[in-house]
Amino acid sequence: MFEKKENKPTGKSPKLTTLAELGEFGLIDRLTRQVKLYHPETLKGIGDDAAVIDAGDHVILLSTDLLVEGIHFDLTYMPFKHLGYKAAVVNISDIAAMNGIPKQMTVSIAVSSRFSVEALDELYAGILLACETYKVDLVGGDTSSVAKGLTISVTITGTAQKDEVIYRNGARPGDLLCVTGDLGSAYMGLLVLEREKKVFQVNPGMQPELTGYDYQIGRQLKPEARTDIRNLLQGLGLKPTSMIDISDGLASEILHLCEQSQVGCKLFEEKIPIDSHTRELAVEYKIIPSVTALSGGDDYELLFTIQQADYEKVKEVAGITVIGHITDKSTGKWMITPDDKQVELTAQGWDGMK
Ligand code: ADP
Ligand code: MG
Repeated sequence: MFEKKENKPTGKSPKLTTLAELGEFGLIDRLTRQVKLYHPETLKGIGDDAAVIDAGDHVILLSTDLLVEGIHFDLTYMPFKHLGYKAAVVNISDIAAMNGIPKQMTVSIAVSSRFSVEALDELYAGILLACETYKVDLVGGDTSSVAKGLTISVTITGTAQKDEVIYRNGARPGDLLCVTGDLGSAYMGLLVLEREKKVFQVNPGMQPELTGYDYQIGRQLKPEARTDIRNLLQGLGLKPTSMIDISDGLASEILHLCEQSQVGCKLFEEKIPIDSHTRELAVEYKIIPSVTALSGGDDYELLFTIQQADYEKVKEVAGITVIGHITDKSTGKWMITPDDKQVELTAQGWDGMK
């Protein structure tokens, strides 16, 4: 059935490409380059936070995310209930990023014998709490054993009216770049947890020193999806031209948005909303505060663009910050520092490799 091309003995071994050479985004591009769509109902396939499927008078949104132990979570400081909650929330966030309403999810787990039934009960208590909070129906999944570790795969659907859907590719030069909430705290929470883990490894008798970091640790261990933004925008009579959720860090998401929209941008470093305590903590950890937002990740806020004419609608709204604007593609993608230097925006990709 398949044409046999490779693996013929040639005497010399072919040069194989390492994953690191391509990076996460290069790999996705390569693997999906030859994808063909066979159904006119598939309005949007690969390339956004969720696929968009025509369902007659409305659309269905469809998205999936994989969480792997050791890459996306560390059970030394991530309680099972939180892990379950987060696994659901990261998917709900992708529906929020399309301006949709989350509806159904399936949950698949691959578990090694290291885990107890009670641990998995807790995991599901977290998943079900998220389902209750966000009104999502758990409708199926799959269960497998695996040699090592724990992997959780969640798939989610959502709905929206056709004209409500907000894609990554609608940003136009002149649009304003906006962000919800504040960024970087989840990353600082992770660093605090990592530091306490190291202390614990050296001295197991020691209690972790986590008081005073509640906001940062909460952002890391119990993130929320911004499903409330849909109503907020509706109330303001505002439809963003593009939108994406911030799962991997602001820099990476801005680049996705610009690439999908075929535009450039100017981001103003001093405008990035960062909690004041997170700023202080970053300095204490010898990290430039903006880096926690740019390269951190796990914030699950929304990044979106609006037409300049809509500025009046957002300028007084608490929890929405204008952080820059969209430019022509040829101008490039830049961050302007407070001392007016231009730094090219770059992102590492490979979630978990940070
Ligand atoms: P997100 O950060 O919102 O989870 P990703 O960066 O993981 O999105 O993925 C970008 C796009 O590539 C999405 O449309 C996603 O569905 C698609 N994608 C990711 N991995 C694969 C894969 N292995 N095969 C097909 N499509 C993929
Ligand atoms: Mg996303």
